[in-house]
Amino acid sequence: MTRRTLIAGNWKMNLIDNIEPVKKGCLKKKVDVLVFPPFTHLNTFNELLKESCVMLGAQNMHFAEKGAYTGEISAKFLMQFGVEYVLVGHSERRHIFFEQDDIIGKKMSSGLANGFKMMLCVGEVLEERSKNKHKAVIENQLKIALAGIENNLKNIIIAYEPVWAIGTGNSATPYDAEDMHQHIRTIIAEIFGRNISNETLILYGGSVNESNIIELLRQDDIDGALIGGASLKNESFIKIIESADKMII
Ligand code: PEP
Repeated sequence: MTRRTLIAGNWKMNLIDNIEPVKKGCLKKKVDVLVFPPFTHLNTFNELLKESCVMLGAQNMHFAEKGAYTGEISAKFLMQFGVEYVLVGHSERRHIFFEQDDIIGKKMSSGLANGFKMMLCVGEVLEERSKNKHKAVIENQLKIALAGIENNLKNIIIAYEPVWAIGTGNSATPYDAEDMHQHIRTIIAEIFGRNISNETLILYGGSVNESNIIELLRQDDIDGALIGGASLKNESFIKIIESADKMII
């Protein structure tokens, strides 16, 4: 079983000045690199990233194909822009826009049916961790969002992003992150079987930077990182890519 390391940048409602250094930075590297620009710039980045080693993702999608959903974008629209990956269930979608697990599950099904690689974010808030409920919370999020999915299981990626670690500078320790990644892999095995579970990429996200990436990636079940703040600074993002690449045998 080999899981390819994936380093992904979630730009949220931000842009970077110049993607060229990142394109150069991932040349001839074994690590996979992915960016999630805002919807309005998918077309531009589809052009800029053609024939490069940087893959393109969208930060969200609606589950319906079309219809009366003001302000939403469906899989069919995303397809026109060379999008390969779609992120769903990010904590900002859950907590600012009140997205529930069942809606996130519908997005997963629709994205997979349309051929996208779907990155499902899960994560607990600090209170849940302090009450020792974090594992149950993650299990619940996974079980609802993955219920009913039968096809394209190899296109599922999980990003474990503890909410208290996002944008705070307070990353989970490699030990705590690995403990949760093992738990996630066990739940995926219960749902889809051990073979799929062993092949599923589980990324860690939450204040990843060039100083903590190596220790995080040293953990057996951490297969890469989903990065917010540090993906907006080319220098940091490239250092993370380089560190991740050096760790691949
Ligand atoms: C994120 O929002 O997905 C994220 C991980 O952000 P940051 O790296 O800034 O904590």
